[in-house]
Amino acid sequence: MSNKVLNDFLTNNLEDLSEKGLLNTIDVIEGANGPEITINGKKLINFASNNYLGFATHPELIEAEVEAAHKYGVGAGAVRTINGTLDIHRSLEKKIAEFKGTEAAIAFQSGFNCNMGAISAVMKKGDAILSDELNHASIIDGCRLSGAKVIRVKHQDMEDLEAKAKEVTESGEYNKVMYITDGVFSMDGDVAKIEEIVKIAEKYNLITYVDDAHGSGVMGGGAGTVKHFHMQDHIDFQMGTLSKAIGVVGGYVAGSEQLITWLKSQARPFLFSTSLTPGAAAAALKSIELMQENPNYVDKLWENANYFKEKLQEIGYDIGVSETPITPVIVGDESLAQKFSQELIAHGVYAKPIVYPTVPLGTGRVRNMPNAGHTKEMIDQAIEVYEKVGKNLGII
Ligand SMILES: *Cc1c(COP(=O)(O)O)cnc(C)c1O
Repeated sequence: MSNKVLNDFLTNNLEDLSEKGLLNTIDVIEGANGPEITINGKKLINFASNNYLGFATHPELIEAEVEAAHKYGVGAGAVRTINGTLDIHRSLEKKIAEFKGTEAAIAFQSGFNCNMGAISAVMKKGDAILSDELNHASIIDGCRLSGAKVIRVKHQDMEDLEAKAKEVTESGEYNKVMYITDGVFSMDGDVAKIEEIVKIAEKYNLITYVDDAHGSGVMGGGAGTVKHFHMQDHIDFQMGTLSKAIGVVGGYVAGSEQLITWLKSQARPFLFSTSLTPGAAAAALKSIELMQENPNYVDKLWENANYFKEKLQEIGYDIGVSETPITPVIVGDESLAQKFSQELIAHGVYAKPIVYPTVPLGTGRVRNMPNAGHTKEMIDQAIEVYEKVGKNLGII
């Protein structure tokens, strides 16, 4: 027997979502999430994962995970502060700090709960957060949870940032002011203007927080967007995820010793949620070691991405303003974007549509993430499909 009020709520709202075309259907991958995937028995070239370096299926990461499971078991057994900090967690955090060029780091169970925990551990009622309007959902939720006044800044608009920073600091109404931004924006692939941000932040005394989920493993030889601009000493929070290029799961903040000590005593997901599995910690650690030892992974990612982007442009597609491997193919109309994706998938290329409200109205696109695991043959084959489908639909 279920509750009638709940049932009515669900029935009405599910119908509403369905009518608006907002009810998502979730494809099930049969087997691993590699450069090629199988869905409904059909093999597809996969351009929809964040597995930038192909590490999700890397044999050395798998071995590290299995070894750790044998040594430590499958679960950490408790939250970090009570009884769940294993030496493998400490090793991972040391490695992250070394890689990022900071004094210390803290690991969380996911990037999402890292943002929820880290922002609200520092920013409080009486503070203000200036936030790029295209920031990730986990930043938006983390800001809300903090109780600070949230002020949206126009996307990558440094004049707007400076004007708002000036207004907020001169008002004298707030105890602390933070600027928070994605390092690489996931829908367009543009890169945060870290150098200009640092200048403005230093002028107005802003705390700086860069979420580098899509920059880690991609920019700065893998160490991220902040390192790319040599700004490790000028950004207070270098946040990132272990689930995208790193290939595993988890999130982290790298920063000063004092900041990390504070987060370890105040960030609620750290205090009240069981720590990363030992296997995940060991695999993530191995992933960073591989990037440090061998630049070929990151180089291969960029080589594939540049080749793919060049070919798409050659056959006449609009790929927007991306400066990173994230490659949107912008078609404009929302239903055309949906149809485009369906046709690509029917022809063997798995690329998903992204439409309003995730991106502005009239900028519907399919988004591609070429990765280091793709072979040239896979990319060439995908380009052939793009050409055929684009011509059939009158896009090119
Ligand atoms: C994916 C993503 C996250 C969340 O990371 P998870 O580890 O998947 O929870 C946070 N911020 C940004 C910008 C992201 O793209």
